[in-house]
Amino acid sequence: MTDKEIRIPRETRWPSVLYYLYLHFSALVGLYLAIFQAKWTTIFYTICLIHVSVLGLTVGAHRLWAHISFKAASILRVFLAFAQTLICQGSIYDWVLEHRLHHEHFGTEKDPFNPSRGFLYAYFTNKFVTSHPDHEKFLKTIDIKDLEQDPIVMWQKRLYWLLAPLLLMLTVFLPSELWDESLICSIFIVGFFRVTVSLHYSWILNAATIIWGLEPLNKYSIQTNLIFLINKSLWPQYHYTLPWDYQCGEYGNYNHGCMTAHIRVWAALRLVTNLRTIDSDGMRKAMIEAATTGREFNQCAEKYAFDPNLLKIKCELDLERIPS
Ligand SMILES: [Zn+2]
Repeated sequence: MTDKEIRIPRETRWPSVLYYLYLHFSALVGLYLAIFQAKWTTIFYTICLIHVSVLGLTVGAHRLWAHISFKAASILRVFLAFAQTLICQGSIYDWVLEHRLHHEHFGTEKDPFNPSRGFLYAYFTNKFVTSHPDHEKFLKTIDIKDLEQDPIVMWQKRLYWLLAPLLLMLTVFLPSELWDESLICSIFIVGFFRVTVSLHYSWILNAATIIWGLEPLNKYSIQTNLIFLINKSLWPQYHYTLPWDYQCGEYGNYNHGCMTAHIRVWAALRLVTNLRTIDSDGMRKAMIEAATTGREFNQCAEKYAFDPNLLKIKCELDLERIPS
């Protein structure tokens, strides 16, 4: 019997259910206040905060720390660590650990967001039930040496329960201090509403394979959808096959999107280096190599990964060398 076939019974965690019910009800009050009472500055400020916290989650926790799609300068890592703290979804260390476990045991009972239990489970009802009885044991099998050697990640992990409430309080009280927003509007819009929307951004990422996948429960559909994989339109199967590609967006896109644009701007400013991606030609070569040698496809593909920025710099140097 495989892991997929064994359904471990889960018990409802009522404190969790009540907490999220309270959070969502308060977020609805926040939405009402945003529509009928809040100042435009507060709404704009809330949108900016949501954007920054999603940046911390997608570019920081997901692409930089979970999949090592690129390297970032210390100042950018600190910014992304603070941005990730804003999302109130646990420390980078814990988030990455769970996400790597999700990739490692995708679609099985070991997967904390197991999509074979359905869309709602992958999306958010996994928060309402107990984890697999051996969940802690599974987490210990995940390689996180890189995180343990990262001083910024370990610093954020140590201080998370001090940093998260402090940042939350600071962001909530700022509107009433700076532009005389009422405290009620600040608490319900910048606090409850902002945190709830940010949480949904984080949760929906785990259900992405059901929303944007052609075959919802099959992360490797290379054999049946080869052409889609080569031209990278098969998302998220592409992400689960080559998770280190920095261009792969979290919400069903590839090569475009706001978060990828941020990475490119930072790369132009030299705050981001060692980007990893692969072109269609590299994909074809990797497939041929995998077929002829019998090696894992993603191992072959890593050989053809390249940094588009280095390529651009090389082209510029070559152009300078051409005599006018
Ligand atoms: Zn991922």
